[in-house]
This record gives sequence, structure tokens and C-alpha cells, in this order.
Amino acid sequence: TPFQFHSVSVKAEQSDIASDRVVVLVIGSGGREHALCYALKRSPSCDAVFCAPGNAGISNSGDATCISDLDISDSSAVISFCHKWGVGLVVVGPEAPLVAGLSNDLVKAGIPSFGPSSEAAALEGSKNFMKNLCDKYGIPTAKYQTFTDPAAAKQYIQEQGAPIVIKADGLAAGKGVIVAMTLDEAYEAVDLMLVKGAFGSAGSQVIVEEFLEGEEASFFALVDGENAIPLESAQDHKRVGDGDTGPNTGGMGAYSPAPIITEELQSLVMKSIIIPTVKGMAAEGCRFVGVLYAGLMIEKKSGLPKLIEYNVRFGDPECQVLMIRLESDLAQVLLAACKGELSGVSLNWSPGSAMVVVMASKGYPGSYEKGTVISNLDEAELVAPSVKVFHAGTNLDSDGNFIAVGGRVLGVTAKGKNLEEARERAYRAVEEINWPGGFYRRDIGWRALPRGQFATKL
Ligand code: AMP
Repeated sequence: TPFQFHSVSVKAEQSDIASDRVVVLVIGSGGREHALCYALKRSPSCDAVFCAPGNAGISNSGDATCISDLDISDSSAVISFCHKWGVGLVVVGPEAPLVAGLSNDLVKAGIPSFGPSSEAAALEGSKNFMKNLCDKYGIPTAKYQTFTDPAAAKQYIQEQGAPIVIKADGLAAGKGVIVAMTLDEAYEAVDLMLVKGAFGSAGSQVIVEEFLEGEEASFFALVDGENAIPLESAQDHKRVGDGDTGPNTGGMGAYSPAPIITEELQSLVMKSIIIPTVKGMAAEGCRFVGVLYAGLMIEKKSGLPKLIEYNVRFGDPECQVLMIRLESDLAQVLLAACKGELSGVSLNWSPGSAMVVVMASKGYPGSYEKGTVISNLDEAELVAPSVKVFHAGTNLDSDGNFIAVGGRVLGVTAKGKNLEEARERAYRAVEEINWPGGFYRRDIGWRALPRGQFATKL
């Protein structure tokens, strides 16, 4: 295999985790799940990795055995599969099965499931739930009020002034947040959600919140119900176009570590945001097990982190750069999280940096053609050490060619001794891939790299 581990994992600090052998099932079919399969496959304690439904690339890479016909919305089918194949750990990638209660059902059946219960998933599913928790447990976040009545919302907006932020309470496919620079824009946003019902029931309640000025950062922690440990930092790129322009996407690339998350900031975020959330959830009878992914604003005026939002799962593509850097036994770490035994666990990461460049179908995030052929994927992994291509929306046609069947299709990932090297390798691999139907951003990492870096070949 072209993949090289930088074997600098100094000491195996895993001694406090019991090394049970385990068969793992990953739920999902994206680049995030491919990256999880990849890391699990390389976990010394992992006997086998299944992925449902998975995708053609995951299967072809040998990182997992894909069970494409397992209906992941049918908990009893998933439980039967686990019993039949001796699955001792389920890792749920996306939010939909979490919200639907897959983790609840697995845990009831005695199968450890990494991912929150449907009740705990409300941290992502309801902004009002999240904001109330912040209030009750003193977690720093933007000042806010919740409304169902448009006139009352507008009255409050007028008192507060612009800029101001209007948010639909529920899940609105990432479109439920409007940052209004003027009062008129804010009133319009209120009408859109509360009068015109643009987001259906997700927008029947709105949160009007203080506009925070500063730099955004993502923060990830593993949580076992009582304890939390931070993951390495990673930064994604939401907009479709170079220079952070154009519409929002699921994410067009990421790098790790993210220099904005200093060691000092990491301990501050753990102390002021993550730990109080975990304790608060437990106190509310709503223990959280899984990944807490916090969207933060590092406020310009105070330099302090404030919580913008929570996601209850790994970010994608951030997961791809984290998993390629992780050197610990992921299966044992996630099992420890399921058993409430994360306290004292420390994670080993490869030094240096990693970068992922997402390749998407032309037209994404709008409409795009399906079925365009992709070639030279094996060659791409050979152009430089440590290159790994994670698959999201791929399938195989009848001639055995990879074809694109989704918006975001590939996560071309590489490690390097620093971000420059990781970037150079990832883009060299991208250029090797032959896919006329695809496109990618050429400036992943621009905030963390000197400007001149982008004047060259790209
Ligand atoms: P959310 O879905 O809550 O993460 O919001 C989407 C985006 O809106 C964030 O990534 C921020 O860029 C922006 N945003 C959300 N809340 C605020 C806020 N209170 N102040 C400034 N920008 C915000």
C-alpha cells in the first residue's frame, strides 16, 4: 500500500484501556464514514469492520465490508445483523439515524453504540434546547430570545438594532440562519420563517440572537456521558468558491491542526463550554455519548470563545483529516466512550499536518449530473507518501469504472511534516485524478498559509 504511517507514536499510552477484541459496524455512506472505517481497520484491537450502507470506494479500498442492503432506518434489522456477526461496537456517522433513535435501540439491546440518544441529539436538533442549556449552566453564547410571534420578534429586533442574527429553531439543512446586516433584512427573515413558513415546522419558532464579531473555529471532543477529551483541531471551508465565496456547502476541504485553536484556547473551551455541557446534559438526565462538535466564535473584543452551535457527530470533511492523523486504537477509544471510561484516556496523533481537498460534481451545491466517470484514483494515491482518497458519492458502473453519484464525491487527503507539505501532496494527488465532471477549491488552507503560497501553480 502507498500509505505510510509516520511512526512517531512515541509511547503507546493505551495501557489504561482494556484491549478487548471487537467487530465494528459503521453506519453511513460518506467520506466521514470512509475515514472512520479506515481508522478502525487500522485499530490493532479491531477484528473486522462492516459499513452500512457504505459505498463502492469504501468496499474497493478494503477498509470495510459494505452491507449496502442493510436498512439503517430499521433498528431491529441493524440489531439482528449485530447479533449475527458478533458486532461489539456500532459507530453512527450521520445525524439522521441518531435523531431517529438508532443509538437508543442499540443500547437497549445491549450493543455499545457510539453516538448520542435521540434526546441528547437535541443539542443539534433544537437551537432553543441548546440555548436553554447554555443559560442554565452558564455556558458562554450569544445573548438571545425565542419567539413564535412575528410582531414580538420585530419589536425585540428594533430594541437591539442591527446587525443581528435570526435562526430557525429546528434543522433546516444548514439554511436556517440569517445574519441580517440591517433592520429590514432582519424583519424580512422573521417574515420568511414565522409568516411564510419557509422552513416548515423547523422555523415555527425563531431565535433572535446577538451578532458576534470575531473569527470562527470548530472544536471537537469525545464524550462518554460524564467525561470529555478534546480531539485535535481541524478547520473546514464551507463556501463553494475560492476566497470563501459563493453558496454554503457541506464542506469543500479541511486541514488539521488549525492554528487558531491554541493550547490555551483548547483548555478554555474544555473548561467553559464542553465540560459544563456534558455535566449539564447528565444533570438533565440526558447523558451525551458521542462527538460534540462545537461551532465557536472567538470574539474580537474579548478574545474569548462563545458557542454558536453544536453538532452531535463528526464534521465531514474534518473527520477525514482527523482520522488520517490518529494513531491511537480508535475502536478501543470509542468503546471506552460507550462504557463511560474515557477519563484518563489520551490520544496519539501524527505530528505535522493533514489536509483534505474535496472534489465535487460540477454544479454542486446546485443541481449536478450523475454518472460521470472518474479514473486514475489508484495513481493518485501513489503520487506522494501518505495520500489517501476517501470516497463519498461514488459507485461502480458495469465496466468497473468509478462514477460520481453525489455532490461531494472524493476527499483527497494527505499528511505532511507541515501544512505546506500536506497541501502540496493533496493537490498533486487531486491533479492526478482524471474527472472532467468534477471540480475543487484551489485555496484550501488559505487562512493558515502565507498568501504567496497560492500565487504559484494552483
Ligand atoms: P449556525 O448554523 O448556527 O452555525 O450558523 C451558521 C453561520 O452563521 C455560522 O457559521 C456563522 O458564520 C453565522 N452565525 C451564526 N450565529 C452567529 C452570531 N450570533 N453572530 C455572528 N454570526 C453568526
